[in-house]
This record gives sequence, structure tokens and C-alpha cells, in this order.
Amino acid sequence: MRNGDTLFIDGKWCAADDGRTFRVTDPATGAVIATAADGGTAETDRAIAAAHEAFDTWSAENAYRRAEVLWRTHALMTERAEDLAALMTQEQGKPLKAALNEVRYAADFLAWFAEEAKRVYGSSIPSSRGGQRFSVLRQPVGVVAGITPWNYPVSMITRKVAPAVAAGCSIVLKPAEQTPLCAVAVFELLAEAGLPPGVANLVTTSRPAEVGARLLDSPLVRKLTFTGSTEVGKDLTARAAATMKRVSMELGGHAPMIVFDDADPVHAAKGAALVKFLNTGQACISPNRIFVQRSVLPAFTDALLDRVGKLVPGPGHRPGVTIGPLVDEAALRKVTRQVEDAVEKGARLLAGGDRLTDDGLDAGRFFAPTVLADVDESMRIYREETFGPVAAIVPFDDESEVVRRANDTEYGLASYLYTRDLGRSVRVSEALRFGIVGVNDINPTAAAAPFGGVGMSGLGREGGAHGIDEYLDVKLVGVCLP
Ligand code: ADP
Repeated sequence: MRNGDTLFIDGKWCAADDGRTFRVTDPATGAVIATAADGGTAETDRAIAAAHEAFDTWSAENAYRRAEVLWRTHALMTERAEDLAALMTQEQGKPLKAALNEVRYAADFLAWFAEEAKRVYGSSIPSSRGGQRFSVLRQPVGVVAGITPWNYPVSMITRKVAPAVAAGCSIVLKPAEQTPLCAVAVFELLAEAGLPPGVANLVTTSRPAEVGARLLDSPLVRKLTFTGSTEVGKDLTARAAATMKRVSMELGGHAPMIVFDDADPVHAAKGAALVKFLNTGQACISPNRIFVQRSVLPAFTDALLDRVGKLVPGPGHRPGVTIGPLVDEAALRKVTRQVEDAVEKGARLLAGGDRLTDDGLDAGRFFAPTVLADVDESMRIYREETFGPVAAIVPFDDESEVVRRANDTEYGLASYLYTRDLGRSVRVSEALRFGIVGVNDINPTAAAAPFGGVGMSGLGREGGAHGIDEYLDVKLVGVCLP
């Protein structure tokens, strides 16, 4: 494992100029795993310059060659999936099986965009003038800055780097300070796959604002792609305006899950438990309000409690563990405050509710899988993103009421509904103001499908045929025939 030389600039691994490093810890034990280079202004500037220099050659490279590099990276990632998953478990905390699923999902983006590289089609448009021809070209935007979060520390990188590289862009990536090692592992694969120097550069740092400012203010950077909190995303979007960068923003969410009384409540509870406690609730598509129609409330709640009772919290590498720690103390405080606030305002605590400290868990940041009943609009959890293992159940009576309440959020990323009524599934999925709707489906995501939100959940889409558009400018060529 690298120690201190985790910057990847112009095809070379290096340390920070002043040798500065920061510690990377295991959230399950608090133990220091490694140190990473603490890049700053000078290193970021060099990474931007390298990307700028590489852009002309890489954008002129033919799409089949760009695809080959991505396919080779895909093959390497698939071959080393178990090592990568073990690293992710150590650095990020999720159980090994979940980490392995994430690595596979991450590799899917490499394969998908390797194929999309070859499908950057243009078009021709008839003109009303006889001697004129219009053609439309799609060309790479230029140098891209990518900023990624810690909760999905491998797939959020391939979801940005793969389409950028496929489109012919070059990129400077700044990963989250909690998970630089996963980023290093991805970049080692890209280098081994033969990506030319400067096409993808990595700046690890404990100073996101400093590196971010440099990336944002540089006129050479033509696009920002960000996944993280709405708060930071708003600031970065405003700052990007000064140099008129393209932006894509994958921000927070406050997903509603609606369980209608025509659905099987036990099946719905199984889905709710799987998606709510996935990644310890640290996902922007995690259901934050689980609306359950009153007549199926007892059956749903019993089935959910049964599932929650079977979850096994612990360090992710321990066999049998199904739910890992929270990322840091601030996350623990936020979840605790939301639960206390809800209980004070009348919610019933049916399971969990506090930090776990037995069996050595006190060294990490573990919160008990929690179920709250009778949640309502007066409570913080009804509006604030939780990003933790708390299932908040909200009773409701009818369809129009629940659609209105589900839409009553500034966010608009994922939403879910359970119903066996075909008409209702169409009506409600059309009425929900979210970028993603899962109908009896808790996993409406894939490399082949567009992912993204509306409202304060962000701008743009990642994945699918839409994902590469974010890295392409449209150029019109008008030709007058002599
Ligand atoms: P979270 O609350 O999930 O950690 P953040 O939005 O704080 O979400 O972090 C997501 C990513 O944004 C991380 O890579 C983080 O380092 C980065 N980040 C946070 N603040 C800034 C900033 N001011 N400028 C640039 N990047 C930032």
C-alpha cells in the first residue's frame, strides 16, 4: 500500500511538495490504516496543467482506442475485485459483501462507457436554404474536475472518470478525505491499463476547500462533476459560474417510500429494510420517510422489526456482519439528534435508538439499526436527510394525500412505491417529482440507467446513454456550398 505518495499527476505517483500527509482511519476501529499525501494549491495547479496538456492528444485519439483502455481497466478491476473490496471495507466500513457489490457496480461503469465511447453520434439537419448543410458534432468539453464522496468510494469515481475518458476529456479527481485509498486503487488500475499520462490525475487532500477553490477558479477547467452534500454543491455551482463551467451535481436526497394497502406488506418491509440499512443508511437514495397506508401498518411494522432484529452490526470484515459503522462522530451526533427530536415530539421508538458500544464496538462509530413509528411533519427527520440507519414510518390514509406529502420536500432524487395496482403505479410514478422512481423495486440503479435528481438534489444525469452527454459540447457546423 502507498504511504504518502498518493498524488497521481501526469502519469507519476508523488508526495505533496512539502511532504505533508494526513491519516486515513478505519471507521470500525479508529485505527490508522495509512497516510495519504495532503495535496494543496501547487499540486492541484500541476494536475490541471497536466490534464490541459494531455487533452489535445487524448481528445484526438480515436474512440476505439479510448474504449480499449477502459475495457482493460474493467478487466483489472474485475480480476482484483476481492482486494479492492477488502480495502473498501477497511477504509469505508461497509461489509465485505456490500463492498464487493460496489466494486462490480463500479466496473460496470467502465464497461458501459467503453461502449458509449463508440456511440458519440452526431446528426445532420435539413436547411431551408438550398446550398446550405448543417451538421451537429459532439465534442469533449475539455479538462474536467471531479469531486467524489466517501460513501461509495469506488463507484462514484468510475461513474465520473469513465464517461470523461470515454468522451475524450481529461480529468483531475479530488476524492473525499475519508477515502483516498480507494481512489488510489482505482488510479493504479487506470495506469496499469495504459491510460496515457495526464489524462486522469488524482489529488488526495485533507483540505477540500483549498483544492476545490483551485479547481473551480481555473479557467482551464471546463466542467465540474460533483457528488456530495447539497450545501457544498450549491457553493461550488455558484463559484463555477465565474468561469462559466458546465456542472453536474449529484446532491442529497430525502426519498419517500410509499407502501399502499394493495401491496404485500411483508414483501414491502423486506424491501424497506434492504434499502434503508444499505451502507448503514449512508446513501443519497436511502428512504427517509416510509409512508405506510394505515390498514397495512401493523403487518408492515412487524415484518420490518423482524428484519431489523436480524441485522448484525460490526466491523465489515467480520463474517456474518451485515451493517457497518457510520463514517464519523458528526454522523453519529446527527442521527442521535434526529432520533431524540422525533421521540420528544411523539414518535415511538420501536428498535435501536442509540450508539452501540458492546463487544468492542465502542472503538468505532456504530449506531443501532433503529425504527421510529408515528413520524410526522413536525420532526427534523421528516425534512432533514438522515444518512444513518433509522427507518422513519409515517402513517397515511389515501393516495392523493400521500403524493402531496411525498412531494413536500426540497429534494428530488429517489422515490419508491409498493403497489399491485397497475393504474396506481402509473399515476403515482408520474406524479412524484423525483429523478428516480422504483415501483416495487428498491434498486432502480444500474450503469445503463440515468441517475440523478431534480430540485435541491442536483443537475444532470450519470450513467446510461445520458451520462456521456455531460462531458460533450454540441457544435453546429453550417456549410454553404459554392
Ligand atoms: P458529506 O457531508 O457527504 O461528506 P460533502 O459535500 O462535505 O459531503 O463532501 C463531498 C465531497 O466534497 C468530498 O470530496 C469533500 O471533500 C468535498 N468538499 C467538501 N467541501 C468542499 C469545498 N468547500 N470545496 C470543494 N470540495 C469540497
